[in-house]
Amino acid sequence: MAHEQSNPENASLPTSRFDAGNVAVIGGSAAGLFTASLLARQGRQVRVFERMESLEPAERTLIVTHRMRHLLGRRAEGCIVNEIRRFELFTDGRSATVPLKNPDLIIERRALIQGLADEAVRAGASIESGRRFHAMHPNDRGVVLEIERCSDGLREEVHAGTVVGGDGAASRVARAAGWPPLATVPLVQAIVRLPRDMSPDTARVWFVPQDTPYFYWLIPESPTRGALGLIGVRGSQTRRALEQFLEKKRLEPIEFQGARIPVYTRWIPVRRNVGRGAVYLVGDAAAQVKVSTVGGIVTGLRGALGVAQAILNGGASHELQRLRRELDVHLLLRKSMHDFEQADYSYLVDLLNDPTKQSLAEYSRDEAWKILWRVFLRQPRLVLLGIRGLLTRGRPLSQPHG
Ligand SMILES: Cc1cc2nc3c(=O)[nH]c(=O)nc-3n(C[C@H](O)[C@H](O)[C@H](O)COP(=O)(O)OP(=O)(O)OC[C@H]3O[C@@H](n4cnc5c(N)ncnc54)[C@H](O)[C@@H]3O)c2cc1C
Repeated sequence: MAHEQSNPENASLPTSRFDAGNVAVIGGSAAGLFTASLLARQGRQVRVFERMESLEPAERTLIVTHRMRHLLGRRAEGCIVNEIRRFELFTDGRSATVPLKNPDLIIERRALIQGLADEAVRAGASIESGRRFHAMHPNDRGVVLEIERCSDGLREEVHAGTVVGGDGAASRVARAAGWPPLATVPLVQAIVRLPRDMSPDTARVWFVPQDTPYFYWLIPESPTRGALGLIGVRGSQTRRALEQFLEKKRLEPIEFQGARIPVYTRWIPVRRNVGRGAVYLVGDAAAQVKVSTVGGIVTGLRGALGVAQAILNGGASHELQRLRRELDVHLLLRKSMHDFEQADYSYLVDLLNDPTKQSLAEYSRDEAWKILWRVFLRQPRLVLLGIRGLLTRGRPLSQPHG
């Protein structure tokens, strides 16, 4: 376990009182705040430590399935800026349109995080921003965390029975508790003016395998603006590919957004013991990301729900079992398509017959195993295409140095 030296020049802030039921959540973003809120609602004493000085993360346009509404209920509404009712898929001169029975939601990340923070505080959690987690070590009762006040470097010792790491893809909590680092891929998107021929309730996806084994997207966030982006394998190439694609589509970037996203390559057990204390991971810190599309909001919220259940039920959580199955199906889909060439995508688009589109319309990306099963029944040739993809795999899902 990593245990960093404290700077002798830094004076120490007071040490917190120990109570085995205390929970310390590191990371005040979607997964951490949702966990905090669920635990505080059940009477747990919860402190959230967020390294940013205020809960005002950079604006980011995200697309999620309607499953977010099931998870967050009315709290979801404040961050929804648009709804998507159909997808248009393009590859090498061919296209297909897939209508959605339940619209996808376009959300603004900052509004989501602020809404979740308000909810957590109402439930009784305290949120301490400008506080960076540094290191942890066990003591005879639980875990002692070293938390640094970012403004002046003062350190506080925080005692907790349970620690939740919601601190993202490069989680320091995970490293400190002994989890290995995660593989990541670069995601870059540009905010652009929507092309005139594009309806604000339609998202576009292009499969261009010579640029990326994933895909490009253009997602309207309003009648006039949208986010055009891609997931790549190497950072510099990904940005260059995006710039060339923007040029090809004659779209002017208004601003760029980007970061590295963890790649789910296998289920990561979410709990480790540190002495007598328990450490859990949620969200990107545990690679709870659908690797077929690299979406992590809904799966991260589900991970938070699962970890909250596990903490409250002494380890058991049905949600974590269901999430694992879901993430594994996405891994299978990603592996089957990762080496597709242009001809494979063309064949795939050609195979999207009406009954198959109906399955895609009926079930969301957060119910992948249901889609897979129905597609198997309605268009077996798609399954054969996927199996061929699995058998001819060569490219790794991520590169060691992005
Ligand atoms: C440009 C872009 C577009 C995306 N689009 C989509 C999309 O359309 N749909 C979708 O579902 N997903 C999308 N994602 C992925 C999604 O944003 C992430 O999966 C999700 O935000 C992960 O949430 P999280 O709470 O697990 O972690 P994060 O949002 O990464 O939050 C981690 C938090 O921990 C804090 N922290 C880190 N270290 C410390 C420390 N030592 N001490 C204290 N605090 C710390 C950070 O400041 C941060 O607030 C996108 C990502 C990017 C970059």
